[in-house]
Amino acid sequence: MIVVIGGGIAGLSVAYELLQRGTQVTVVEAKTIASGASGVATSYLEPRLGNTAMRAIEREAMRRWEDYAATLSSIGSTDVGFRREGQIKVTLAENLKRLEKDLDAREAQEAQFKRLSMTELNALEPALSSDIVAAAHLPDVRWVTGRHVCQALATAIGNHDNGTVLEEFPVAALEHNGTGVNVVGSDGTQLRASKTIISTGIGEPGIEGMPDDVPQSRPVRGVNLVLDQSSLEKPITHLIKHHRGNMCPRAGGELIVGTTYEAGESSLDPGPDVVEFLYQNAEPILPTVRQLPLLRVTAGLRSKVGDGNLRLGRSAQMPSLYYSLSHGGAGYLRAPVIAAELADFVLTGEPGKLTHEHTHL
Ligand SMILES: Cc1cc2nc3c(=O)[nH]c(=O)nc-3n(C[C@H](O)[C@H](O)[C@H](O)COP(=O)(O)OP(=O)(O)OC[C@H]3O[C@@H](n4cnc5c(N)ncnc54)[C@H](O)[C@@H]3O)c2cc1C
Repeated sequence: MIVVIGGGIAGLSVAYELLQRGTQVTVVEAKTIASGASGVATSYLEPRLGNTAMRAIEREAMRRWEDYAATLSSIGSTDVGFRREGQIKVTLAENLKRLEKDLDAREAQEAQFKRLSMTELNALEPALSSDIVAAAHLPDVRWVTGRHVCQALATAIGNHDNGTVLEEFPVAALEHNGTGVNVVGSDGTQLRASKTIISTGIGEPGIEGMPDDVPQSRPVRGVNLVLDQSSLEKPITHLIKHHRGNMCPRAGGELIVGTTYEAGESSLDPGPDVVEFLYQNAEPILPTVRQLPLLRVTAGLRSKVGDGNLRLGRSAQMPSLYYSLSHGGAGYLRAPVIAAELADFVLTGEPGKLTHEHTHL
């Protein structure tokens, strides 16, 4: 049996892939499914520009997402909220040059976008400010409701004959058992694993016996406001991006307004200054933002290792122990590719074609 530690998008997606490959899998989660960063992510799917190995992973993941979302929505019995309206990038006069530069780079890479006149913008998103001077529609950007993706994966795993999901199972220790590892819960329960995958995000501190070649993560806090936009005559329907943040519509009239990137901040209680910062960033773009009821403020910790790049790997000190860490701000975007290649790596020992540059042996 393979034990996956961590019930966020990284752990659940690899567990699901392992099940598809005929393996018995148990996911153990310290709290509840998606109680880490995965539960509060804005979860839009937008590959960045460039030609690095990571950009290739992201572009391939985008190609797979539509089918992935459809499969999860049906077998996980949860609508994962896959949306295709695309993104509208907007700018005020003071940042016009920045938007032009971004669009030039898109043109050079033949990425799809369409410049919008202000009349076209107003027809699409009348709630946005009339101070906006330029806009472009990026039709290929998608988004999902991240928490629902995790719930769908957990349901699919739990319903599978070879799959188990154990919540409220904080792992306290790892112990060598000859060929594999015993995964020990804080109440002393032991799971005998032939292989184990660490996908604990920022992690609960103090798993005893963790080899020191498994990298340590550091937090980058992200805070979002969740507003009720149903009172708007025409609610926002696109993912809106501007130079200070984004706005993402969700089912049920919700509008996510975000987000912060606070390196080293690990408190999940952001306080009024951060809330005010988000309002101040959004108000020039959506003038009525303060009139929309605030449903909740959400905070999560993106996890990064070292330079912030993805870390997939196997511990040399404990060779049956694998890890999937440092998903940063793109754990959802890349999941369909990373989960599939990590599952193959764990089963065959061969790093994946797309992820080999990020795989450490
Ligand atoms: C505000 C915000 C906005 C974001 N927006 C996007 C976006 O638009 N698109 C995108 O792709 N990504 C986005 N992200 C990033 C995305 O959320 C992360 O990359 C992703 O959720 C990381 O998943 P994970 O499974 O590695 O970590 P987590 O979701 O943090 O999951 C780790 C899990 O491990 C569990 N755990 C930890 N220690 C133990 C232990 N000892 N025993 C058992 N379980 C344990 C935790 O309880 C947790 O549930 C955003 C993040 C934030 C915070």
